[in-house]
Formats: sequence, C-alpha cells, structure tokens
Amino acid sequence: MRIVMKFGGTAVDSGEKVRHVAGLVKQYSSKGNEIVCVVSAVRGMTDGLLSISDSVRRGDRRSIEEFVQKAGKIHLDIVNEAISDSGIRELAASSVRKVVGELQDILGGIVLLGEVTPKSLDYLVSFGERLSAPIVSYALQDIGLKSEHMTGKEAGILTDSNFGEARPLMDTTKLRVSHKLEPMLKSGMIPVVTGFIGGDQNGNTTSIGRGGSDYTATIVASSINADEVWLWSDVDGLMTADPKIVKDARVLNEVSFAEAMEMALFGAKYMHPRALEPVMDTKIPIRIRNTFNIKHQGTVITQSPSKESQKIVKSVSAIRHTALIDVSGGGMVGTPGTAAKIFDTLARNKVNIMMISQSPSESSISMVLRKSDLDRAINTLELNLLGRVIKQVNVNEDVAVIAVVGSGMRGIKGVAAKVFGSVAKKGVNVIMIAQGSSELNLAFVVNDSDCQDAVRALHEEFSLGRAEMQAP
Ligand code: ASP
Ligand code: MG
Repeated sequence: MRIVMKFGGTAVDSGEKVRHVAGLVKQYSSKGNEIVCVVSAVRGMTDGLLSISDSVRRGDRRSIEEFVQKAGKIHLDIVNEAISDSGIRELAASSVRKVVGELQDILGGIVLLGEVTPKSLDYLVSFGERLSAPIVSYALQDIGLKSEHMTGKEAGILTDSNFGEARPLMDTTKLRVSHKLEPMLKSGMIPVVTGFIGGDQNGNTTSIGRGGSDYTATIVASSINADEVWLWSDVDGLMTADPKIVKDARVLNEVSFAEAMEMALFGAKYMHPRALEPVMDTKIPIRIRNTFNIKHQGTVITQSPSKESQKIVKSVSAIRHTALIDVSGGGMVGTPGTAAKIFDTLARNKVNIMMISQSPSESSISMVLRKSDLDRAINTLELNLLGRVIKQVNVNEDVAVIAVVGSGMRGIKGVAAKVFGSVAKKGVNVIMIAQGSSELNLAFVVNDSDCQDAVRALHEEFSLGRAEMQAP
C-alpha cells in the first residue's frame, strides 16, 4: 500500500515521541508499504510564532530574543534525545541551528519595520514545521531508513497568494508533487514533508490555514494516488460526543466523507475544514489513529461506509464560545437585497457567520458567530446599517450550537421530533434552529449554560453510547 502518514504536533513534542513515531513508520514500511510522512510543528510552536508577531509589532526585542532561544533549545533537546548516531545527530542539530538562525534574522528584519504583513506572517509561521520535519527525517535515518525532508513548497504544493488561508492550485500541484515524490518512493525513500506550508507563483511561502497539516496530507495523497491517508494524533478517532461532556462517548468505526465534513466543522476532532476536499473526488480513505494507542483501529472516513455502521444519528457535538445576533426592522420586509447587504457588509469586515435563519415574515434575521468576531460584527452593523436597513440589533453573548450529525437522518420522519422532544424533557430552551436540505445535520442554538444537558440528552436519546456492530 501507498500511505501518507501525518503526525500532529503532540506526536513529535519530545525526543522519545519522535523515536516512537520513527519506529511506527519503520514498522509499516517493513511490511512493504510506501510511506510519505507529513509533519506538524511541535505542539505550541505555531501559537508561539503567532504571539511573537505581537512582540514584533510592539518592538519588544527581549521577548523575541527569549523566544528564539527557547525554540532552539526545544528542538535541540528533541534531537539529542531522539537520535543516537552521533553523525546523524550532528546533521540534525546543524539543520535546527540553521533554521533558528534564519528565524532570528527574519524577526530582526521585521522588527525594524515594526509591521507584520500577512505575507511575512506566513513566512514566520512556517518555521514551526521547518524545524520539526527535518528532525523526523533524521530520526528515520537513525533507525536505518532512507529519508529526505522538504517543505511543502519544495514538494511542489502551489497555492494562490491568499496568505493565512491559501488555497492549493490542484492541477499544477498534482503534477509537481508526483514528479517530485514518485521517484523517491520508487527508490525506497521516505519523504518527510512539512505540513501547513505551500508556495505561491512568486515563490513566497504561504500557509494554508490553522490545522493545515491534515490538508497537506490529503493534497499529497491525491497527488500521488495514495491508497490511504493516516492522520496520527492523540485521540482514538472521531467520537459520538465530546468525552469531557458525555461519559459513555464512543469512538466511531466508520463515517462517510459527508458526515466527517460536518463533524470537522463542528469540532469533533479539529480538522482543517477543507482537508477532505482533495480526497473526496479520488475517494482515498482517511484513517484517524492514535499514535499512543496503536492497537486501536481508529475511525475510517470513506465514501461509502458499511451497512453495519450506518445509523440515523452518529454524533452530537457542541460549539461553544459563540454568540447570536438578531437584526430586525419593518423596512426589511419585502425589500430584495436586505440579506445580501447585511452579509456583504459583515463579510467585507471579515466577520464569519456560522449559522443563519430568517423567519418568513422577513422582519428579522438571526445569525450565529464566534464570540471573537462579535465586537467587530456589532460595530460593523452599527456603523453601516443601523437606522437604515435595520432598526434594531439584539445580542445574546453566551450561546452554544448543538449539532446532530448523521446521513441516516435523510428522509427519516420524526428525527426532529425526537431531537427537540429529548431536550425539552430536560427543560432546555431552543433559541434558533437550522437544518440544511441535505438533512445531514440538524443544528440548533441553546444558552451556553444548557449546552451539556442538551448534548447528554441527545446522546442518550439516540443510544450513541451503545457499540456499533462490528463487520463480520
Ligand atoms: N502547525 C499548524 C497549526 O498549528 C498546522 C497543523 O498543526 O496542522 O495550525
Ligand atoms: Mg495541529
């Protein structure tokens, strides 16, 4: 089999873990599989790089200096613990020192400018992966495997220039990535590619969005016609609910691409929202597996899950830290373009709307958004539309969105009645409801304080704690 294996930041944050990861790769490659590794930044590094960009804006040279030192130490410690051969260890250490030196230079440069552009920020955040990937590659060499490391840009991932959320240009990317990786795989080499990074047409480094290493893995997989993508993280798989809320939450054996897409958006395991795109048309299955519990088979995401795993409802999740805005006004009734104006104005001010509903009377529109966008959203509405298109803005600052996901809901009568009946029994008030016509998910909004009760009630109502039948 040809497998693309992605290792998340928690799988490579110590020398011992890197050794473990290398061992895993060896185990599967010795079974005759061709393997490409995609590696995330060491846990905390991407966040660290993002927050150091604030120190750059403030001109805080001391914090910058401390950060660079710390980054160097973290990675050199990992190298020392992970790699036993002194020659290979020295190669890995000098690669870390070189990249850290470059990090220091660029930070020095942008602190002089006192400004961090989206372009320089992408270059800056690329250092997390540029430090971790070489270490994994040298750790593979240390246990006798042939390996080479490269950035996503070097591997051939071409993106547009939308820094921070760049999109891969798939046709060119596929050609370039397969051209680069195929010969390596044929010669028994294990390429180690940095997650999260690509390059635009002008050669600038771009990043493809938070959690983007999963996306890198699927981009690479579809480029080289891999048989499977394995996302190694620190959870056993996608779950029926958040185990912190529901005690008998369970790992799902199989889900469809469409279901996984909904679950990813609703935060079951945080996955890049577009990560499934490249493999959906090529139908390459994705396995989510736990690096620290390799006996567990994890969750498989496929085009068509087996009959046994099909259920009406598969998972219940909650998105917290959300707020609800309700805009209203008689002038909205029967006026074409009102909704367009509201959403366009918000979009231009970079407010992302998660959920929308409008009553047929057209006198009000409710929308749900992340709390972090709330201030900007209210300012935008007040400055641009209040008193004109809309008369009133009401806000509920503490709500949670509950999402019930499962493709088996399609065409089945009575699901909504069961959903709302079970939360009503717990005395939970439903504030807003939305269901797409695909009937893949039913989402509703409750006060944040009711969130846990609602999730537990639904998990129980649909017996999600009970194991699915295993395929014979
Ligand atoms: N290091 C990047 C992030 O933290 C990409 C990833 O881990 O998937 O968002
Ligand atoms: Mg990650």
